[in-house]
Amino acid sequence: MRVGVPKEIKVHEYRVGLTPASVAELVAAGHQVFVQTGAGDGIDCPDTAYTKAGAEILPDAASVFKSSDMIVKVKEPQQQEIALLEPRHILFTYLHLAADKPQAEGLMKSGATCIAYETVTSRSGALPLLKPMSEVAGRMSVQVGAHYLEKEQGGRGVLLGGVPGVAPAKVAILGGGVAGVNAAQMATGMRADVTIYDINNDRLAELDMFFSSQIKTAYASRAAIANAVKEAELVIGAVLVPGAAAPKLVTRDMLKTMKRGSVLVDIAIDQGGCFETSHATTHADPVYEVDGIIHYCVANMPGAVARTSAFALNNATLPFALKIANLGAEEAMRQDPHLAEGLNVSGGKIRHEAVAEALDLPY
Ligand code: NAD
Repeated sequence: MRVGVPKEIKVHEYRVGLTPASVAELVAAGHQVFVQTGAGDGIDCPDTAYTKAGAEILPDAASVFKSSDMIVKVKEPQQQEIALLEPRHILFTYLHLAADKPQAEGLMKSGATCIAYETVTSRSGALPLLKPMSEVAGRMSVQVGAHYLEKEQGGRGVLLGGVPGVAPAKVAILGGGVAGVNAAQMATGMRADVTIYDINNDRLAELDMFFSSQIKTAYASRAAIANAVKEAELVIGAVLVPGAAAPKLVTRDMLKTMKRGSVLVDIAIDQGGCFETSHATTHADPVYEVDGIIHYCVANMPGAVARTSAFALNNATLPFALKIANLGAEEAMRQDPHLAEGLNVSGGKIRHEAVAEALDLPY
């Protein structure tokens, strides 16, 4: 198959659909890969790395789309990219269509087969192409939390791990899923005093086994959370209720009880946030203060570590990209029902029930 990789054009998007290592795998499997010049510059993968991997470099997006059967990207296609899609194309990327009717209608009009990373499932029912980004955001949350706890950032002036003779900071992690566990791994590595709160008792039991005495676990009752925020220097929001807005676990009243200069990192901000006082911020201006508490609420945290994120994303997407290239989209989805869950649009119609429902379009 002829596979194309355009340069991402969404503002501040530095990741790339295929890294040179992924290109080499596709080429070894007998496929042709076309990469737009500069597509990997943002993650320090120059054109020469792609040609070494066996790709052909093309001057612009139009020629990449024209030369390719499958387009592999990171972010949802922008209007000028949708205009380049034809019915013969397979588009494999994040789409997040449920909240984006103009994009959905554009993709329907294109006639292309559009497979969304975020709805591909795994055997356990999880979302394997979202997982690497939750891993990144979870690990990053502790790094940014530690940074904003520093005095010159307006923080309380505490070191997460303390030092001999001075107690470590208390870290409360709300939600012990993928992001929460990765946050806990970083926070325990820095020797903070970590508690994970969740409403899933089986999950709490697993975490207790996994971390042993390195962390404490607690059922996420209202009272337990109220107590946690009063005590903690760093609170990380990492809850997810699939398909729904994040529950507001920390109220404005609870915030008033926190120690001044403490930090909230709301990873769940992409689902509306789990603190009542959260609103989405950007990497250009990531924090704001309410009642003396620093809020970090960046909706695309992985963008800040684009290189790590692009490699992590490729590790997850490459097996599926290879399968589509080897078999064609139709046969690949027939053989793999989890990949088939990724199909959002084809032949001018919405093909994913939940997406159609969210958009109020026929399915
Ligand atoms: P996950 O499904 O692996 O884990 C979510 C956990 O939250 C589960 O263990 C669940 O039991 C728990 N939970 C649900 N309701 C709860 C409640 N009321 N109280 C306590 N715990 C509760 O999800 P994940 O992959 O870890 O993702 C977490 C969040 O991070 C999601 O909202 C996701 O969209 C977001 N995310 C954000 C970024 C970003 O850049 N900001 C990046 C990646 C992921």
